[in-house]
Amino acid sequence: MPQAVIHWFRRDLRLTDNTALHHATKAAGQVIPVYVLSDWKNSHGWTGSNRQQFLCESLASLAKNLEALGSRLIVRCGKAVAELERLLRETQAGAIYFNRDYDPHGREVEKQLAALCTRLGVECHAFDDSVMHAPETVLTGSAQPYRVYTPYSKNWLNLEKAAPWPRVKALGPPAGETLSSRPLPTLAHWNLPEPTAQVVEAGERAARERMKRFIESGLLLRYGSDRNTPAGQTTSLLSQDLRYGLIGIRELVQRCQAAADAAPAIGKASVLTYIKELAWREFYFAILWFYPEVFEHEFNPDWRGLPWPGTDEAFQRWATGMTGFPMVDAGMRQLLHSGLMHNRLRMITAMFLTKDLHCDWRLGEAFFMQQLVDGENASNNGGWQWSAGTGADAAPYFRIQNPWLQSARFDPEGLFIKKWVPELKDVPAPLLHEPPKPGLPLAKGYPLPMVDHHTERDRCLAIFAKHKEQRS
Ligand SMILES: Cc1cc2nc3c(=O)[nH]c(=O)nc-3n(C[C@H](O)[C@H](O)[C@H](O)COP(=O)(O)OP(=O)(O)OC[C@H]3O[C@@H](n4cnc5c(N)ncnc54)[C@H](O)[C@@H]3O)c2cc1C
Repeated sequence: MPQAVIHWFRRDLRLTDNTALHHATKAAGQVIPVYVLSDWKNSHGWTGSNRQQFLCESLASLAKNLEALGSRLIVRCGKAVAELERLLRETQAGAIYFNRDYDPHGREVEKQLAALCTRLGVECHAFDDSVMHAPETVLTGSAQPYRVYTPYSKNWLNLEKAAPWPRVKALGPPAGETLSSRPLPTLAHWNLPEPTAQVVEAGERAARERMKRFIESGLLLRYGSDRNTPAGQTTSLLSQDLRYGLIGIRELVQRCQAAADAAPAIGKASVLTYIKELAWREFYFAILWFYPEVFEHEFNPDWRGLPWPGTDEAFQRWATGMTGFPMVDAGMRQLLHSGLMHNRLRMITAMFLTKDLHCDWRLGEAFFMQQLVDGENASNNGGWQWSAGTGADAAPYFRIQNPWLQSARFDPEGLFIKKWVPELKDVPAPLLHEPPKPGLPLAKGYPLPMVDHHTERDRCLAIFAKHKEQRS
């Protein structure tokens, strides 16, 4: 048994139900916990202050939890493999433990780390942790990856679900004083400004409370019927916690199943609906794992090279929540003010940008990643490609949601709209769901709709049809 091993924290910033950390504590008398900060500065095309703030606070909470166990989080900064090599040499640790990251960058780093460990003669232990079922374990009968969600989810649901790992209770003595650590990061580390959004409370304790509240308050058992209503809390609000691994997927699923066991049929059905959403998350991880080209290209090859003639000005109006479509603007302002957005609104705003404004889905994808606290490469790419009609299991390109009908259906009393677009608070609800009379804005200071939905729908269909014709 090696005396000391390293646990490399990545997207698993918790002590409970942490697969690699659990195994590390079983393998050695001393576990040295480390986190390696990225070293980019000023701006990053895919990350912004909201998510980094959440990361900083989650790291601070992790450090405190480790201290409570008599341990110490070592913070380093730079390229992960180089920093881990330095730490391996400084500590003479006999092994490194970590949980896998399924995105192409994480995968590449893991490959390099495995090579380094071989070179140094150090054990390298990688675990599946952030998903219930790793991408390579959910395959078709002919061992091929799925391209469509429904058969994937059937297979995924039928696989045996692992139980959670217990909370880690001891990591052995802390790393010696001579082992240097950077201070816990603040946004200044990346030269980022303070977030403009009110970011949800971070850390393992806050995440566990959110999880328990969702399951125990009855929200989970009503999820099946309520989840598409964006006003008030109708969903779990756990995406950022899954993103940073503040809660373990095994524990979440086990708690949901226990709630289902004790619930009447309708509650059981709700829990199943919820668990199927967790399967969407893993479906998109699998898509990115098997088809990493989706970062650059349309998943469906038929739509590669499709023109997106939307203008910068149109994009800016969308991005600032000033399109004159109340439901679209409410969604975008929820994003700007909270760093999160209800799933129904993500679909409405993404479809509006791509189908009504004809802007490239990659612009929206990057904008969401910069703003979202739960920004997850796989789910975000999957959601954008779904909305644009180019993705796996895509809404076919000819199915274009009408934003007026969407708001009438999912926010009939305008509660969500009025919360996020205060200019409209005195406008009677029915008027929020139809275009206003020409030249007559809904309220002072609120713009007229920037486009006519029916005209843009026809234009979108024509663009897709022409592309299809040219390719055939
Ligand atoms: C354009 C677009 C972009 C998106 N970007 C992201 C993103 O960056 N990060 C992210 O976590 N989710 C993303 N989603 C999926 C979904 O909108 C969010 O996961 C959800 O709104 C988070 O709120 P919740 O935790 O209350 O969800 P709940 O409804 O409570 O669902 C529970 C969990 O299931 C998962 N989930 C639910 N719906 C989806 C879905 N459609 N795809 C993948 N996973 C899902 C999430 O982990 C979520 O926390 C995106 C969807 C769209 C349409």
